[in-house]
Amino acid sequence: MSISEYFEAKKRLYPQAAKGRFRKLKWILNAIFLTIYLGSPFLRYNRGAGLPNQAILIDFSNSKGYFFGIEMWPNEVFYLMIILILAAIILFFITSLFGRIWCGYACFQTVWTDIFIALEKVFQGDRNARIILDRKNSFEKFYKKTLTHLSWIIVALITGYGFTNYFSDAFLQAKNLMQLNLSASVIGWSLGIAGATYVMAGFAREHVCTYMCPYSRFQSAMFDKNTLIITYDEKRGEPRGKHKQGDSFENRGDCIDCKQCVVVCPTGIDIRNGLQMECIACGLCIDACDEVMEKINRPKGLIRYDTQKHLDMPVEANKFKLLSARFFYYSTILFAAFSFLFYSLVTKATIESRIIADRNPAFVMLSNGSIRNGYNLKITNKTHEEKIFTLRLNSPKDAQIMVQSYNQADENNLIVAPNYTANFKIYIILSQEFLAQNLDNQGLIDLSIIDNKTQEEQKFSTIFVWK
Ligand code: SF4
Ligand code: SF4
Repeated sequence: MSISEYFEAKKRLYPQAAKGRFRKLKWILNAIFLTIYLGSPFLRYNRGAGLPNQAILIDFSNSKGYFFGIEMWPNEVFYLMIILILAAIILFFITSLFGRIWCGYACFQTVWTDIFIALEKVFQGDRNARIILDRKNSFEKFYKKTLTHLSWIIVALITGYGFTNYFSDAFLQAKNLMQLNLSASVIGWSLGIAGATYVMAGFAREHVCTYMCPYSRFQSAMFDKNTLIITYDEKRGEPRGKHKQGDSFENRGDCIDCKQCVVVCPTGIDIRNGLQMECIACGLCIDACDEVMEKINRPKGLIRYDTQKHLDMPVEANKFKLLSARFFYYSTILFAAFSFLFYSLVTKATIESRIIADRNPAFVMLSNGSIRNGYNLKITNKTHEEKIFTLRLNSPKDAQIMVQSYNQADENNLIVAPNYTANFKIYIILSQEFLAQNLDNQGLIDLSIIDNKTQEEQKFSTIFVWK
């Protein structure tokens, strides 16, 4: 048995262009998302002299991330994880209310596939023209296909280049592009992302949604009878059958089996067979069916966004309600979580200190019998100005503290450059008598660093050992 026998053969789809309100909405959203994607790196935000003024920037060379007034250090990457987890929760929440509208309107795969199919239509014509063209072997096919692929490559390259703008100054990079002076990494990343875009939107298309995307696999677990889904009204549509102009619709359904809902579907399914995993809830079949209903003088909405509850029992009380108890419950939790995240991001500490005790040797006995422990004190200054700190020993009071002379440092003069982590070697000494009277074989030392300018104090503790 060959490996290909384990997989269904790839069926080439020729989605027909749809016309209608959902198609229009999709174009408007596509334009908004592309403008945000390509335009965001050009937004400016003044952070002061010597700092990047790009509002959204991931600065790998300095290991920093910037989002308007928020600055991220590498050790704060957990914030990013929290944001991603919250984004996933929002996605689940939206799915439980509105079904897969993320997939149908906002997912990168959908947006770029839409653009690639539109370009295909520009150069090769709509569905029927494309089917006929693919059957030929002619010069017409060659140049139309070439133009299509060239347009795809241009869109893919713009996409790839747009991505790299998030990692360096977008205006400077635009100037470098004009002068054909892009760095090797920018070229490499642009080509990599462009290649992925070309393959995913040009060839993989609906297979990404059906086979690759894990979200399509578990989305049904978030649906219930009140979720807004794309539905075919079977009660109204069946029994389906061909219909001639002027014929009555008595004793038959409204579906005239024209298959317009199938040919416009970007994933190639027939929604009349019920809700399927492949359906990305794009609404194009609604547009197609509404157009047909208008032509045959039947009410629109044979295919529509509706809830299973309303389909089962079409009464007013079962219609989709946005402002349900579930909506308020989830949105209150999410609002509280985001408010907390935002507050912790804007108030996060700009000074961090960490003390690590020497392990080899853990302690040293001095000639007078006192015990000395050595430590490495790291102070990270995340502000953009030099800071000078005083190191204070809070307890035990009898201990002595010494800072190893380095960079003219003493305990009242720990200088840390802006955007920098400085290391200081410090020693704490306790007399034998004190240790014998007050402690067992290890004790807690409480220390503080105090910003000499603002008098802000940070407390921390460490262990003292002598046995
Ligand atoms: S577009 Fe409407 S009428 Fe035509 S096959 Fe689909 S459901 Fe039936
Ligand atoms: S069935 Fe309708 S809503 Fe679902 S993917 Fe196809 S066209 Fe879009």
